[in-house]
Amino acid sequence: MKIVLLGPPGAGKGTQAQRLVEKYGIVQLSTGDMLRAAVAAQTPIGLKAKAVMDAGGLVSDEIVVGIVSDRIEEPDCARGFILDGFPRTVAQAEALDRLLQEKGTALDAVVEFVVDEGILLSRMENRVKETLAAGGEVRKDDNPEAFKTRLEAYRSQTAPLSEFYAASGRLKTVDGMQSIEAVAAELDAVLAGVVAA
Ligand code: ADP
Repeated sequence: MKIVLLGPPGAGKGTQAQRLVEKYGIVQLSTGDMLRAAVAAQTPIGLKAKAVMDAGGLVSDEIVVGIVSDRIEEPDCARGFILDGFPRTVAQAEALDRLLQEKGTALDAVVEFVVDEGILLSRMENRVKETLAAGGEVRKDDNPEAFKTRLEAYRSQTAPLSEFYAASGRLKTVDGMQSIEAVAAELDAVLAGVVAA
């Protein structure tokens, strides 16, 4: 099972991805998490990516495609994976198709979380509050200014992916404005159709 989850920051992709990991026994590949780990470890990629990430911009296609291409070769990806936060540009989506084609495989589903933009900022602010309450560390890009830049990057560079995947008949959608449980149920129904197909 190879799935892409699409949707703006705060749409709930990460929350649902974690549940799918348990349900299907596949791994979650979040390019945001991988890049944050590279920043924390101060690897050459992390050092390059830090400033643009903190400001809410997109890291170069070359860097993220390189990371994903290495990662999906790992043995734990053999049963499948959920991509969360990748692809984020049409160039990344084309690179992903090529990578999978070279391995003789393809995506099983692309699911877009459809949400009203108005709710996203407050979801981010809630995440910050919950993280602080739990004694955790808040992401550097979880502040109103960087969040605005993230939304703009989403609108201009990532939103066109819906059309890209719809054009090849691969796009499914779920209503991300519902409760976590209701989104989970809708997502299960969508994926059940994919598995059965
Ligand atoms: P969000 O919650 O905004 O969706 P992520 O954790 O997915 O955030 O990503 C955080 C940051 O990491 C992005 O704002 C961007 O700088 C960088 N990033 C993550 N994935 C990609 C990608 N596929 N292409 C370019 N930059 C990326």
